[in-house]
Amino acid sequence: MKRSWCQVNLRSIWKERTEKMEFRWLTPFTTGCERENKRGDLSASIKRLDNTMKVVEISDTRKITIIEKVEPQIVNPDDVIIRVAAVSICGTDVHTFTNTHPFVKPPVVVGHECSGVVTAIGSKVKSVKIGDRVAVDPVLGCGTCTPCTIGRPNACAEVKCRGVHVEGAMQEFFKIREQDVYVLPDSLSDTVLGAAIEPFAIGAQAVWRGGVRSGQNMVIFGAGPIGLTTMLMAKVRGAECILVDLKDDRLDNAIRLGAAAAIRADADDLKEQVRGVTGDQGVLVTCDAVGNPDIVDRCVELVDPTGTVILLGMDGSQNNVTELDIFRKELTVVGSRMNSGMFPTVLDLVGQDQLPLSEILTHRFSCERADHAFDMAIEQPDGFIKAVITF
Ligand SMILES: [Zn+2]
Ligand SMILES: [Zn+2]
Repeated sequence: MKRSWCQVNLRSIWKERTEKMEFRWLTPFTTGCERENKRGDLSASIKRLDNTMKVVEISDTRKITIIEKVEPQIVNPDDVIIRVAAVSICGTDVHTFTNTHPFVKPPVVVGHECSGVVTAIGSKVKSVKIGDRVAVDPVLGCGTCTPCTIGRPNACAEVKCRGVHVEGAMQEFFKIREQDVYVLPDSLSDTVLGAAIEPFAIGAQAVWRGGVRSGQNMVIFGAGPIGLTTMLMAKVRGAECILVDLKDDRLDNAIRLGAAAAIRADADDLKEQVRGVTGDQGVLVTCDAVGNPDIVDRCVELVDPTGTVILLGMDGSQNNVTELDIFRKELTVVGSRMNSGMFPTVLDLVGQDQLPLSEILTHRFSCERADHAFDMAIEQPDGFIKAVITF
């Protein structure tokens, strides 16, 4: 099976990165589409609805309406249409639902963490076929600027994310481009779990950007879904992670998923507790997985000299970090935005059963009950990590 040009490019870019940075995953890098897909039979069970489909729309503040729309059609030669299997809910989607997102306002169709089965392909599509089960990378660059041409469209000045800047995946059929879809490994029997590939790609990006490696101690502020996927990717790299959060049940989740320690963010002796875990080895990576200026300050304060601070979220307000803080400890401060070509790496690890996707998608809802899914994502009952809507 041939790879698309985009995937070939990403592969060579990844190789370049690994050579430059001596950064390697524990597993060989392969693209999902290199594997033969044996699930073509699934297409037989796809139900067509006379050219109309159900769409989950955030129609107003805290209001979900199931509307009918005409199904998408193949127009461009690289178009791919999938029958959506599942879309998981992200913090961004919750902000849109509560009408607190800075620029995404109802009525809108959100959803950027998505899996499904290919139902139609354009004339030039080679890397997937009808019946393939896939995950969708939602990052859309302009395609021509320097970041885009070096395989980092997430840093494009014109970058768009499906489900945020443009229409999202919460609909029965979803049209994307060939370069956006990645075939799920056969060993992942539940297609719904493919929705969790995107949040793991965010974690993979953070771990790559932070140069996290075996034997390092990493402190992650925020034990929500992204803090946890970052931890799980860092653990694959051989690092030990300490998670910090204000909620006890989130700290429990972190321990259950393999954190070396979980500490309350409001502990007066946070620094001492961290030292108690790491001993003389110290902390060479800290990560703000919340997006809060106070946490950036604490990340810079807590990390040891020569360490790296990963900024994985941001709320746009000012922190108190000074040049002197960074200069004295000779720190590296990196941003990590969405992901750039991390889907193949994540899917490879999923194929080896190294990532607990089902542990992250804790609560399932049918699309008719999408409003309950959003309510639960706000309430966050004990044990909750992520809600997923199935179609
Ligand atoms: Zn997300
Ligand atoms: Zn661009």
